[in-house]
Amino acid sequence: MFLRLTSALVALSIAAPAFAQEVNLYSYRQPELLKPLTDAFTEKTGIKVNTAFLDKGMVERLKAEGRRSPADLIFTVDISRLGAAVEAGVTQAVTSDVLTANVPPAYHDPEGHWWGLTTRARIVYASKDRVDPAEVTTYEDLAAPKWKGRICTRSGTHPYTVALVAAMLHHHGEEETKTWLQGVKDNLARKPQGNDRAQVKAIWAGECDISLGNTYYMGKMLSDPEQTEWANSVNVLFPEFENGGTHVNISGVAMTAAAPNRDNALKMMEFLTTPEAQEVYAEANYEYPIAPGSEAADLVKSWGSFEADDTNLMTLAGLREDALRLVEEVDFDG
Ligand code: FE
Repeated sequence: MFLRLTSALVALSIAAPAFAQEVNLYSYRQPELLKPLTDAFTEKTGIKVNTAFLDKGMVERLKAEGRRSPADLIFTVDISRLGAAVEAGVTQAVTSDVLTANVPPAYHDPEGHWWGLTTRARIVYASKDRVDPAEVTTYEDLAAPKWKGRICTRSGTHPYTVALVAAMLHHHGEEETKTWLQGVKDNLARKPQGNDRAQVKAIWAGECDISLGNTYYMGKMLSDPEQTEWANSVNVLFPEFENGGTHVNISGVAMTAAAPNRDNALKMMEFLTTPEAQEVYAEANYEYPIAPGSEAADLVKSWGSFEADDTNLMTLAGLREDALRLVEEVDFDG
């Protein structure tokens, strides 16, 4: 037994020098999104990338592993998840000239606990047949009586909705946001249900005329033969806040508090924020790269251009609980 173990260790140590350098990732993002980037990183640096793809429980796992965690970097979407990781104390602050040059201020934690890589906008999908694109103007306007019985959306407690409500709170304060939420609720064609694509399907089926959704779902629907018809029945329209731009959220990366391979992890973060890497990462999920000078894929650009709201996403993370409370106070899903 002991001998077998020893020979196994010898085998391992012989195999190891080929990749003396490595970096370990925990990812909520799918393998097909990360693989092209991790391959390119290994090719460029010789650093091996080991990735654990998780469905849930990333923060709990990092907490349980503590200082012995093998993870160096975490990958996720949505400011609420990045914010929760920071709050739980499982990340560490990182700064470098490369990161600061490649990631605009709105898209990273001022202290450096997380760095954005790509954005997605929360926009309006509108029936091509029943909605004049000029009718869709601001998020505030979604509470106007002209939309009565015409809006579909997913749950008010979903992180995508909560982030939008947090942005409304930031721009208008509690009272106006509550009135707005009640107004949008009064305009719903049906109780909130399903995911973003289910709302577009409902528009296609004639159940409602507009819905809230993330931009990349347009690309996902177009690439799914069963959903192409839904996608082709709507326009992608970019509302703005009256005193701001279009609401965006991010995908991002953070270094873990443990980070056994800190130098390699920082190299990887810097690599990921380069315009070239961001463009590859963005295109894989129909998102927007954020580095100065980077460009979205042609299909994504074809949906139109917009001015992103420049509120720092950490501000929205801080308003998350208040936003959720308002959603519950107006019984948005009820
Ligand atoms: Fe999504």
